[in-house]
Amino acid sequence: MRLSKLFGKTTRTAKVYDSVNATLLQKAGFIDMVMAGVYNYLPLGLMVLTKIENIIREEMNTVASEVLMTSLSPRSFWEQTQRIDTVDVLMKTSPANDLAKQKNDSEYILNPTHEEMVTPLVQKFVFSYKDLPQAVYQIQTKFRNEPRVKSGLMRGREFRMKDMYSFHASMDDFKAFYEKSKEVYKRIFDRLGIGKETVIALASGGAYTKEYSHEFQTICETGEDTICFDEETNTYYNKEVAPQEKKFKTMRAAEVGNIFPLGDKFTKDWKFSYTNAEGKEAPIYMGSYGIGPSRVMGVIVEKMHDEAGMIWPTSIAPAEVYLIVIGKEADTVKQADALYEELKKQGKSVLYDDRDVSPGQKFSDADLIGVPYRLVVSKKTDGKIEFKKRTGKETQLVSFEELLKLI
Ligand code: ATP
Ligand code: MG
Repeated sequence: MRLSKLFGKTTRTAKVYDSVNATLLQKAGFIDMVMAGVYNYLPLGLMVLTKIENIIREEMNTVASEVLMTSLSPRSFWEQTQRIDTVDVLMKTSPANDLAKQKNDSEYILNPTHEEMVTPLVQKFVFSYKDLPQAVYQIQTKFRNEPRVKSGLMRGREFRMKDMYSFHASMDDFKAFYEKSKEVYKRIFDRLGIGKETVIALASGGAYTKEYSHEFQTICETGEDTICFDEETNTYYNKEVAPQEKKFKTMRAAEVGNIFPLGDKFTKDWKFSYTNAEGKEAPIYMGSYGIGPSRVMGVIVEKMHDEAGMIWPTSIAPAEVYLIVIGKEADTVKQADALYEELKKQGKSVLYDDRDVSPGQKFSDADLIGVPYRLVVSKKTDGKIEFKKRTGKETQLVSFEELLKLI
């Protein structure tokens, strides 16, 4: 991508928002705030979000089928599960003016989660034990009327979620799948570059089960949650459920994922059961499994940055290489253009800074945007290429062949 042609700009303003991720992502032109907790994604931000979501997608595809459910649902679905009055983040739409009301005055729910949607959907395709188990997931925008939106992408009113739902003929089958989902989640967070600092914490199972739920908590000083580590049993707890009598080591963390045993709460509400091998009606056990791709993006910026800007893990960086051309001499521009084309041929993704701006701005934007490698071509590099890692200080002057060994 040539930066001269890419929509969006880095800004020189020193505007500081309530969090590092909101400040850096907006300064670098990755996202744009529409109102509190609601953000547009610009090309660079969308590239990161898409990479995060594609890693999640690839791993989820090993255990579930991808679907895309609707964002709008009828009130009746939420009445069916009696959650219309109990889910405090629920948002509803209503006609905006009299004309709209004359056409259709129905109110709809903007889905904050999809148990109400997925249960009747799967019910349409499951009749007997032969049709179970089932697992479906989607990656989609969710809406929640959060009382306080804060920390940029970490808590939004409109945000991205991967949500999976599984349906089982027995508790044992559910439990086996639930354990398997933990392994899938571990692979996802490893690939996203936060595996080492992401732990599984026991948390409240909510209203539908006596079991714990499991939160994937990324250790992060600016996270909203507090988790406790029990050294004796090698167990992490969300502070909300940690045994009171013990004195734990505590730390701040951000919940990037959450898996939930739901028992037969939703299947029962929808009168969704199946016929077992003996020809008898039997209950269906359900689990839900969430990850917040947009929150993950915010958490990664919180954890991986320095005073100059963001430092993306290679797997989700908007590109692998940031190529800077300095000077307008025909030879230099020709060399940089050719390098850009060659790198693309080698399958490398390149942000080519061919803009008509000062070298100083190109260098500071390279650091701000934070892709893993920076290359410079100028009259001074004399046919060679200056190479530097985003995380390193030293530069090296290398040939194209040498460069390919480094990136
Ligand atoms: P929290 O405890 O942070 O409010 P939650 O437990 O309500 O989140 P889930 O309903 O389990 O979250 O949603 C699945 C995932 O979606 C969460 O683990 C988190 O990564 C993400 N998520 C939830 N709420 C938000 C939000 N308001 N903004 C961004 N991501 C969110
Ligand atoms: Mg939670």
